Amino acid sequence: MIQLVRGFKDILPPETSVWQSIEDTARRHFENFGFREIRPPVLEQAALFQRSIGEHTDIVEKEMYTFAGSRDTLLTLRPEATASVVRAYIQHKIYAADPAARFYTIGPMFRKERPQKGRYRQFYQINAEVFGVDSPYMDAQLIYMCMTFFRRLSVSGLQVHLNSLGCPECRPAFREKLSEMLAGRAENLCPDCLRRLEKNPLRVLDCKVPACREAVADAPSMLDFLCDDCGQHFRTVQAALADMDIEFQIDPRLVRGLDYYTRTAFEIQTSELGAQNAVAGGGRYDQLVEMLGGPAQPAIGFAIGLDRLVELFAAKFPAPETGPEVFFLPMGDAARKRAAKWSSQLADAGVRVEADFSGRSLKALMRRADRMGAARVLIVGRIYIRTCGQVAEK
Ligand code: AMP
Repeated sequence: MIQLVRGFKDILPPETSVWQSIEDTARRHFENFGFREIRPPVLEQAALFQRSIGEHTDIVEKEMYTFAGSRDTLLTLRPEATASVVRAYIQHKIYAADPAARFYTIGPMFRKERPQKGRYRQFYQINAEVFGVDSPYMDAQLIYMCMTFFRRLSVSGLQVHLNSLGCPECRPAFREKLSEMLAGRAENLCPDCLRRLEKNPLRVLDCKVPACREAVADAPSMLDFLCDDCGQHFRTVQAALADMDIEFQIDPRLVRGLDYYTRTAFEIQTSELGAQNAVAGGGRYDQLVEMLGGPAQPAIGFAIGLDRLVELFAAKFPAPETGPEVFFLPMGDAARKRAAKWSSQLADAGVRVEADFSGRSLKALMRRADRMGAARVLIVGRIYIRTCGQVAEK
């Protein structure tokens, strides 16, 4: 038998109803905040992700599903959605029509990571992206939208971790200072961090290997290097969040795995999922639109890990098995014909039906109706009408 590919999974009913209800809630909630749905394809040119996520990130170095397309182009199954949304934003000149465009998208992402609980090779995200707005109040509103979405789902016990990654003005000095410090401790770093040290030293800050964590315990903080504008921006985000009663924790170790972030970076974490504790993450990417060939437009967004959210949600609210409202139980071929027609018409009229055409015994069908949690059973039998001593089957 051909089995599932490792790291991939089937999502089966009744769990699918949890997914649907979370997705419906997201659509309604995000649309209230002025976001509209965008659906980019799952396949893009590899160059899009190499240029946006960054050549020296784990995703681009080792996790992308890339293969040859036609005419020498390399194609990639998207590992995240932001790059695709930015590409669509530029390609369709959306900036010309709407100076403050807001989009959300829901769909699968693909990363060749080591499969483990909470980490899949095809996983789902709900993304929200805002273009053209550099105000710190947008950052705060986006975090508020995300947290109130979780609240709507009654998912609690979440913490907002917040940091600022500065901008191309102030980050280089921090990067240099950090590199200097890490170079002196190179012998304590894991092989991955040794590579990062050269190309992307900020990533060493969020390595989970205990020796690396220890090596960066007294690392300098980006917050001490913020320029005046970035400092002011960060302070305003914090004040706005406090004003909206959103609790947060400043986390100077939070750098996120993608190169394009600037200024505000945040992650929403839970203590209920073990090692994979991030349910959502996001931040500003003010340079990305220009970097990908568009006009200079600030932007900010986040991605919620839907698989992890479903896990949190389903632990509290197991998927209810919703049985049919009417279960048609036909006895005999003529009855099956009628049951087919009546049940179809009833379903079309908005009633949840099930009709069993298997021809099994009444007892077997009653048992199935019971197992499915049918609210009503309609036994369709043969009706005999006696006319003038003749028996006619109707
Ligand atoms: P990222 O795009 O890496 O910033 O991730 C955003 C969110 O997506 C994370 O907080 C996770 O909840 C989720 N996520 C990322 N990678 C995976 C994965 N391999 N499997 C399941 N969820 C993931």
